[in-house]
Amino acid sequence: MGLYLSPRFLKLGVFSICTVLVGRCSAPQTAPEPKIDQRNRLAEEFIRGKLPLWQHRLHLQDWNVTVLSVHRTDLREHTLGNIHWDKEKRTGVIRVLNASEYGMPFQATLNDIEFTIVHELIHLEMASLPRSEASRSDEEHAINRLAAALIQFEQRDKPAPGLGGPLPPSSNE
Ligand SMILES: [Zn+2]
Repeated sequence: MGLYLSPRFLKLGVFSICTVLVGRCSAPQTAPEPKIDQRNRLAEEFIRGKLPLWQHRLHLQDWNVTVLSVHRTDLREHTLGNIHWDKEKRTGVIRVLNASEYGMPFQATLNDIEFTIVHELIHLEMASLPRSEASRSDEEHAINRLAAALIQFEQRDKPAPGLGGPLPPSSNE
């Protein structure tokens, strides 16, 4: 699976998530698809709304977290994002794949970016725990399940899209 990560990377707190995120549901597409050159701007608006929300939910407000949209070449192969953090300074930088480079419908892209942000924030929650190369794969799987459960819980009470459901990404939320 190519999950090797050097001890130096582990020490720096660098993690990446798997590309294949099986079993996640994507909302049916009803909104018109934005053009490729608008996607990243719209996604950044979306991120600006979601990041503080999830930081608050996970009680990570004391961390100064930023999210950068990066090109695929800036990410490790087969990953869609990563996080680097400094525990002493309480800073974290999450990198997510630029929305214009996702090969999927825009709403599914936003869902995926949100999933990545939640996944990486959970890494911050666990920043104080001991880690090892041996536990890394299990940790990634556990974090994926937690992130999926949290997002599913959030969406549980929302009406289906097209029925007055979640606002399109260009709206103020
Ligand atoms: Zn991860």
